[in-house]
Amino acid sequence: MRSFPFASLRVRMTFLLCFLCEVTLAQELPKTTAEASNYRSTARYEDVIGFIVGLQRSDHDLRVEFFGTSGEGRALPLVIAGPPGVVDPRTARATGLPIVFIMANIHAGEVEGKEAAQMVLRDLVSSSRKLRDEMVVLIAPIYNADGNEKISTDHRKTQNGPPNGVGVRENGQGLDLNRDYMKLESPEARGLISNVLNRWDPLVTVDLHTTNGSFHGYALTYSPPLNPNASADLIDFERDTLLPLIREQMRTKHNKETYYYGNFLNQLTPEKGWYTFDSRPRFGNNYVGLRNRFAILSEAYSYIDFRARVEVTYQFLQEILNAVAKHGKKMMRIANRADEQIRRGKVRKAGVRFEIKPWKDTEILWERCVPADSSAQPESPGETPKVRRTGQIVPVKMTDYGIFAATERSDVPFAYLINTAEEKAVANLRMHGIVVEKLQHDMQLDLEQFSIGGGKLAEHPFQAHHEATLTGKWKRRKETVPAGTFLVRMNQPLARLAFYLLEPRSDDGLFDWNFFDSSLEAEIAPVRRIMKPLAIDATIIP
Ligand SMILES: [Zn+2]
Repeated sequence: MRSFPFASLRVRMTFLLCFLCEVTLAQELPKTTAEASNYRSTARYEDVIGFIVGLQRSDHDLRVEFFGTSGEGRALPLVIAGPPGVVDPRTARATGLPIVFIMANIHAGEVEGKEAAQMVLRDLVSSSRKLRDEMVVLIAPIYNADGNEKISTDHRKTQNGPPNGVGVRENGQGLDLNRDYMKLESPEARGLISNVLNRWDPLVTVDLHTTNGSFHGYALTYSPPLNPNASADLIDFERDTLLPLIREQMRTKHNKETYYYGNFLNQLTPEKGWYTFDSRPRFGNNYVGLRNRFAILSEAYSYIDFRARVEVTYQFLQEILNAVAKHGKKMMRIANRADEQIRRGKVRKAGVRFEIKPWKDTEILWERCVPADSSAQPESPGETPKVRRTGQIVPVKMTDYGIFAATERSDVPFAYLINTAEEKAVANLRMHGIVVEKLQHDMQLDLEQFSIGGGKLAEHPFQAHHEATLTGKWKRRKETVPAGTFLVRMNQPLARLAFYLLEPRSDDGLFDWNFFDSSLEAEIAPVRRIMKPLAIDATIIP
């Protein structure tokens, strides 16, 4: 056999050079705060910014935008990892690729998402770079930056680390950002909606949390959008295809059990059922569903240690990206169909109030618990009944109450009319990206008025509001509506959201959030409906 010494030397040299450049690259890529501290600490705001800057040194295609400024003045980073040439939404859309948005740290006591998102970002610069030929990934690693900076060992004491403490749930104003998606009272939520969801229109939004609820056998639980007003095609695809695939990958590739988010009705009698949380769109996953896009809520299990929570969240993110690489094109078609369906007036009725329902009977992994005896330390102070954990994980047959159904429905109109005085409500609609117009002339119209039977404010405040519940009925009238009246046509992609915000009986709309309280004493609500299509001369508010 002839030998080719030069060639083989060249091969060896190339191998050596590649090896060296990989070593150099690996040395250059930054470590997360969790890694660098051996999982004793989580990143502060400056650490996250430093990490991103460190990655940008190795990858000049990695872009950073700031999608908002927190109440305390911190610029909120959004990192864009796509194919070369993707610098903004226009160039992203031109690729025809799905856009995946990962957001972490909305609750700044729940910090592993922030760490895992940085690790995924580093992979997108190095080992998983090829994924950037298949999608554009947007990452907001530190959404609630102000809450994050209040790191203390006094917070979330039942959570298993990190030992050097975590931030707080609320933002600088004391608001829970995962209850602010409809009313948009925080600068963080306003920035998120305007500069991420409206501007980039991600196909999938992943929202990373930690749960300290029931004792179960899952390292991580997850949820799709839960509000039934979202497109059924979209929810079905998540439940039938996307989430089962990710769950299977978590089991086979990572040896981890995951399942839909829930809690036992009673930790001691698990057969009474497993209950998911809430269908209202004040929660991000439900909100994104009303925008006709996919959402995945991720809840790492707070009783496993910090390193294990970072690891499972990281693996879950990897499998989400792999699943989008496989199904992204189909998901884009489903999302487009959901836009079209509402735009063309195919949705005639939708829910305004909802109740939780049984979804299926299944086996759920329960951690066997027994009543706490007097010598036992309660695991979660305030939790009733107090229980003692045994460490035994057993499957138990029970009903999964994992879905919601409407208990009251209302007609979806051709358009809504809003009184000229209601500028605050109109400003909210426009922040959501809903197109609002103004009537050019007085018009005599066949319309529906909401005749108010009564209005009640909640006794206890929530997020600094006493939520309002209206009773009453829609009634047909002929009426002359003055020029300048606001108009929201329902042939727009965000009509599902507009319906939810404007229906007087909606459980999470602008009536509920006190935008129309000054008119509650009136007989007629300041929002009217036009039911039948007709030509209307109106101009869009720019
Ligand atoms: Zn949370």
